[in-house]
Amino acid sequence: MLQNRSFSARKRIAMVAHDKKKKEMVEWAEVNKVILARHELLATGTTGRLLEDKLDRPVKKLLSGPLGGDQQIGAMIADGAIDILIFFWDPMEAQPHDSDVKALLRVAIAWNCVVACDPATADFVISSPLMTGAYEAVIPDYSGYLTRQIKD
Ligand code: PGA
Repeated sequence: MLQNRSFSARKRIAMVAHDKKKKEMVEWAEVNKVILARHELLATGTTGRLLEDKLDRPVKKLLSGPLGGDQQIGAMIADGAIDILIFFWDPMEAQPHDSDVKALLRVAIAWNCVVACDPATADFVISSPLMTGAYEAVIPDYSGYLTRQIKD
C-alpha cells in the first residue's frame, strides 16, 4: 500500500552546511534569494544565523548540528514536515557528529525527501518547474516491514 506525501507550492526547505561549506551555502542562498523568498526556510543553528543575516528574512533555527540539530531535521523529515533538504556536507573533513550526518542522509532517503548535497544539485532543484506547484511524493511501502513477524 503506497502512500503519498503532499508538497504545496510553498516548500519547506531545510538547510545545513558544515563549517567549511558555510560560505558556499550563504553565497548560493544569496544568488537564489528571490526564489527562496517564496518558500519556508529552516536550518541548523549556525547555518540559520548566517542565512538570516545574508537574506534579511526569518529562518527557523534549530539546534546547532553537532548539538542535535541534524537529528531534529531528521525527525521532522520522518514526520513529513520537510520537503527539501539542502545539505552541503564536507567530504574532506571528519565531523564530531559523523553518525548524525549519516543518520540524516539515511532518513531523508527512507522518506523520499528531495536532497541536494552540492551547489550544482541545489541549482537543479531550485530551478525545477516542480518548485512552483503542488507535488505528490510517493512514500516507499514499508507495510511488509511494519507487519513482519518477530520470532523468539
Ligand atoms: P550548524 O550545524 O549550522 O549549527 O553549524 C551544521 C552541522 O550539522 O554541522
